[in-house]
Amino acid sequence: MHEMGLALEIIDIATASIPADLAGTRVERINLTVGKLSAVVPESLRFCFQVASRETAVEGAELHIEEVPVVARCKQCRHEWTIDEPVFRCPACDATTIEVVSGRELDIRSIELEDKEEKGQ
Ligand SMILES: [Zn+2]
Repeated sequence: MHEMGLALEIIDIATASIPADLAGTRVERINLTVGKLSAVVPESLRFCFQVASRETAVEGAELHIEEVPVVARCKQCRHEWTIDEPVFRCPACDATTIEVVSGRELDIRSIELEDKEEKGQ
């Protein structure tokens, strides 16, 4: 199950990115973007995260998963367009050299920590 590996990776990155002076602060939410071609099932990723994050610094955090469209680019004419499934041909020039520019990956956009105290300003 590929979601378990991703969940562990998210836990590692999130844990490492909590500043030292905020250690012990509860992580409320982790915002992720997941490309539609990444084959990640959000429910399954949430489940794995919940299991794997037990007794870590990010236990109990909510995963906010946003699915982002996949952008493809033609290497011949540089035409860029959004796709929902893998493509093999450029609609503009008919070339078959296509690269996926974004949407394949999983990215951690931000990590929200619980507000322990009201800040002055
Ligand atoms: Zn093209």
